[in-house]
Parts: sequence; structure tokens; C-alpha cells
Amino acid sequence: MNDKLDVLAFGAHPDDVEIMCAGTLVKLAREGYKVGMISLTGGESGTRGTPQDRKKEFTTATAIMSLKTGEILDIPDGQVHVSEANKIKVIKTLRKYRPKIVMAPHWETRHPDHSQCSYLVRQAVFASGLKNLDTGQQHYRPKNLFYYMELYDFTPSFIIDISETFEIKLQAIQAHQSQFYNPDENNKEQEQTFISSPEFFDYIRIRAQYWGHKMGVAYGEPFYVREPVGLQKAGDLLHIKTFWR
Ligand SMILES: [Zn+2]
Repeated sequence: MNDKLDVLAFGAHPDDVEIMCAGTLVKLAREGYKVGMISLTGGESGTRGTPQDRKKEFTTATAIMSLKTGEILDIPDGQVHVSEANKIKVIKTLRKYRPKIVMAPHWETRHPDHSQCSYLVRQAVFASGLKNLDTGQQHYRPKNLFYYMELYDFTPSFIIDISETFEIKLQAIQAHQSQFYNPDENNKEQEQTFISSPEFFDYIRIRAQYWGHKMGVAYGEPFYVREPVGLQKAGDLLHIKTFWR
């Protein structure tokens, strides 16, 4: 079976990628690219939802987003740090899917697991290209690593127009029923978290509108690249959009 992907996005928990960059991933899938997402943990330390619930919700979100794969690695929740064991797990995943592009959270963020996910993925992306690091697979290094934005703002290197895929992004987030607001009675009994209030979805929309405005479209998702972005065709300059219109 050919598992090769064009784009692979990593998150620490089974809803991180959906919240932060689902619009871009759905857009890439619609443009014909093979896209997948990985959750490093099953999210078993979260306040709400059993690991079984969360796995099912992740699978549903993967289908809603038309992704080729959605996989949960077996790193224990709360132990997402740069260790040799965790690095090997990510390297094996990279060598299995051989994505051209990798996405990960920006390291400046609120949740320690998310920062650690960022550091871990960066180290693994590099180490995956080392021939003498043996995992029983062919060595492989992705071409680029792009960081998606969480709570802390940075000046983006680029913004993707997600106007056409924003509603699908919301559906993918809502697939995580155990985590988010749901008007059902039982749900009200549950402990509330940062993301379980009805206002959380307003926040998602407003953030996407804010970044969309920066490029003159309805909704956008911002990314950061540590390296300068090079364009091979000078004519690509003609397609860059800013709020100057
Ligand atoms: Zn998370």
C-alpha cells in the first residue's frame, strides 16, 4: 500500500489540528493533494471525553475533512516532550507517510504539550533525514515545516484563504462532541473547560475573519516559517494578496 502524503499536520491532542489549520488542510485536499493528520496522544488526560470517544471523534473529523489518514500515536498525554523514544515515534511516522510538507503548532503557546509538540516535530523532521538513524525504514526529510497559530499571535509568513472551507472546519471541530459546547442536557452537567463554552466558536470565527481581513478575504489561517520563503517563478508575485487589494 502506498501511504505517501503531500502534507502531514501534527497536533498534541485529537482536536488541535482541526481548531488551528483544518481550513487549510481541507483546501489542500480539495485541490487534489494527499493530506493527513496525526495526534501525538489520545488526549486521555483531558477534562472531558474517554479515549474511546476521542478516537471516534478524531476518525469522524478525518472523514469530514476528506483526509487520507488520521492517526493517533501512542505517546502518553501530558508526556509530549523531546525524548529519544518520542522522537523515534514521530520519525517512524514521517518515514511511513513521507510528506513533502509538515505542519506543527508554533512553539509560543499556552498549553505545554503544544509547545513540546512543536519542538518534538522540528527535531524529528531533521533527524528523519539522517541515513544512519535506523528505524528499519528508508530515511526521509520533508521539504518544509510550517507552524500554525494557536493563542499567541505572531507576524505570519503567509496566510491561507480558507473562505470556502471555513464551514467544513467548524464541522470538523464540532465532530469532537465530548470537547465542545453541545446544547444537550447531559453536556451541561459536565465540567466546563477553556474550549467548551458556546463563545469558543465565536472566537474561532472572529480569529479567522481577522486573518482573512489581512489578505482581503472572508476567512484566513496564518502560518509561520522560520526560513525565508523563496518563490521560483517571479510571476507568483502577481498572485500575492494583501489588504491593499
Ligand atoms: Zn491540545
